[in-house]
Amino acid sequence: LGPGQPLKQHQIMVCVRKRPLNRKEVAEKEQDVISVPTKDVLVVHEPKKQVDLTKFLENHKFRFDYTFNELCSNATVYEYTARPLVKHIFDGGMATCFAYGQTGSGKTHTMGGEFTGKQQNCRDGIYAMTASDVFAHLLIPRYAQLGLRVTCSFFEIYGMRVSDLLVPGKPQLRVLEDGHQQVQVVGLTEKPVENAEDVLQLIEMGHSVRTSGQTSANATSSRSHAIFQIVLRVGNKGKLHGKFSLIDLAGNERGADNCSACRRTRLEGAEINKSLLALKECIRALSRQSRHLPFRGSKLTQVLRDSFIGGRKVKTCMIAMISPGLHSCENTLNTLRYADRVKEL
Ligand code: ADP
Ligand code: MG
Repeated sequence: LGPGQPLKQHQIMVCVRKRPLNRKEVAEKEQDVISVPTKDVLVVHEPKKQVDLTKFLENHKFRFDYTFNELCSNATVYEYTARPLVKHIFDGGMATCFAYGQTGSGKTHTMGGEFTGKQQNCRDGIYAMTASDVFAHLLIPRYAQLGLRVTCSFFEIYGMRVSDLLVPGKPQLRVLEDGHQQVQVVGLTEKPVENAEDVLQLIEMGHSVRTSGQTSANATSSRSHAIFQIVLRVGNKGKLHGKFSLIDLAGNERGADNCSACRRTRLEGAEINKSLLALKECIRALSRQSRHLPFRGSKLTQVLRDSFIGGRKVKTCMIAMISPGLHSCENTLNTLRYADRVKEL
């Protein structure tokens, strides 16, 4: 299976990306405990001590659809993950791509683009590469004749609050479920876009709205889910044709548990756990073709409901991000176990 080729039979693809040790970790001689021996295997070498204190490595081996080592670029990750799903939304389906992992593991780097100095280069993030491919597909005669229009939305879920990232000041949005079990994010901006450059501007704007007012770079954005959507609509009435949701999930670590002073942080952590658990259950139910999807379990799954069901074909890709260092070993194993559960059919 090569880049751009159709997905395997199942609708859920699960991949893992290992980031390189960063400069600080290298300076501190942090040990890299992850190896990626082949394109679909990843091994965690966990240092352990026996009762007699002799040291040994416990090797945990995992297999996924694809495993990306620290040398892989965003472009390569994109080729194998989101790219094969673009065609799917043109064929009238729903696609979702999730970035999952602990804070600092590379979710925003992968989805939003690489940071160089103080700037984010959105162009090489999966959001922008997907948008660029969407406009390339519009030129294919078979799709050009459908008269499709493209719009984008960008919003954030922080605790129970949903806010629009395409409006400065982040107005809060309400989530409503109508009688036909359709979920609506009331007042969500859906900006019409004509080309990839338009989308780039929206990504940059959303990113600055997301991170504005934060004391540290990773404060609230690491505790919130960011959802970027590319929507295809047809005709004057704007009937939904297909939708691609690209999601930068909140950090999955439980780091704040031991901090008794920050009740708020603990509550946030509990809410994040709840939403990631609900997400896993929804994806699993989807892969079992189960009729019942536990999407009401969290705001996240509730707003993604129409991407999971609604009589359309659904394809999902999860990219689990991991940090290579020894100090992240426990979080890394948690991330890989979660990803392993998602891929199970
Ligand atoms: P997260 O969004 O998961 O909290 P970030 O994407 O902000 O993590 O990444 C944390 C830091 O690591 C950033 O400075 C980012 O530029 C860097 N980083 C992440 N992934 C990579 C990668 N694959 N190659 C180089 N640097 C990376
Ligand atoms: Mg981030």
